[in-house]
Amino acid sequence: MDFLDLFRRCEGLLEGHFELSSGLHSSGYLQCARVLQHPDHAATLGAALAEQAARVEPSVVLSPALGGVVIGHEVARALGVRALFAERRDGRLTLRRGFEIAPGERVLVVEDVVTTGGSTRETIDVATAAGGTVVGAATIINRGGEAVGFDVPFIALAQVSLPTYESSSCPMCAAGSAVSKPGSRTA
Ligand code: ZN
Repeated sequence: MDFLDLFRRCEGLLEGHFELSSGLHSSGYLQCARVLQHPDHAATLGAALAEQAARVEPSVVLSPALGGVVIGHEVARALGVRALFAERRDGRLTLRRGFEIAPGERVLVVEDVVTTGGSTRETIDVATAAGGTVVGAATIINRGGEAVGFDVPFIALAQVSLPTYESSSCPMCAAGSAVSKPGSRTA
């Protein structure tokens, strides 16, 4: 299955010439929520990640809120294990109250999109601090490329490279292409 095609069909991946909220220009715009709002698509993506993650034999899934919650839940469903999440409290990612990880429990960290890997690393730390053993990390989209690495096996369903440019050095602007803002209906 071509997962990026699913993203394109749901407008979760727009390709063109965009001005992001940061003011930077990019040739693409990624929004996992556009895809994950459809429960059947979330289930499809979750099952695909679970299929690849099964070899590390996770016994629980942990995701960072909010972006990772839906896909983490679907991966856990497909694996037949619990779905936990960590949330930001006082600026620190913390295991949600009511959730526990047993000593040595095999944790799979699941996210929707990995860019620098910072959020995944933080979630790995939460799992480790809670007593778990992190056996892998998984994401629907890796947009950080080769630069993203973890100390555990890393699974991504798709790779997306979306370089950003200052408007003054944007090659698409230089080529005379009109810029649009993602999400605007005129885009
Ligand atoms: Zn531009």
